[in-house]
Amino acid sequence: MHVRMLSGGLAAACLVSLSLTGVQAAAAAPQTAAAPLAPRVLTYDAGGSAEFRSAVDRGAAIWNESVDAVELRPAAAGQRANIRVLADNGWPRALPTTLGNGTVYIGRQAVDQGYNTVRISAHELGHILGLPDRKPGPCSSLMSGSSAGTACTNPYPNAAEKAEVEGNFGDLRVGRAPAARAEVIVD
Ligand SMILES: [Zn+2]
Repeated sequence: MHVRMLSGGLAAACLVSLSLTGVQAAAAAPQTAAAPLAPRVLTYDAGGSAEFRSAVDRGAAIWNESVDAVELRPAAAGQRANIRVLADNGWPRALPTTLGNGTVYIGRQAVDQGYNTVRISAHELGHILGLPDRKPGPCSSLMSGSSAGTACTNPYPNAAEKAEVEGNFGDLRVGRAPAARAEVIVD
């Protein structure tokens, strides 16, 4: 895990340095500037998320504000989405298949106990983006999940969580195989 986080951090640092180089090159000689890497677009279908739909949209928007390497977009009608988001009466959980793909359940059991729906949504989407749980953990960590308590409404990933997602999808964009994580992650 330490190695993986270090590699994510290095990848993020490389991206920053690349984009700085790009800006400088563009100012001096536009014809030599490298095109910036486009974000990997993942579609999500929140059609089955019932009363949590706006919370799911907000959770996706938070990831879009937080990272550059990946972008979550609502799937068009009839389009097969990378991520399905469903509501049910169980505990919130994620079933990632490959990086960026899988199913998320916004479980009413946690909502009924008082957990924040936007934090739940962003947290479960974080699993699809390759993040594991980090429990117990503080409210400043999105992946600390329910261990931060019902009073915690923070829906934003911290710097390390953002860097890890940038690294995961940065690897994908430069053709490196991402780590597979195909198990149920409850909460
Ligand atoms: Zn979790």
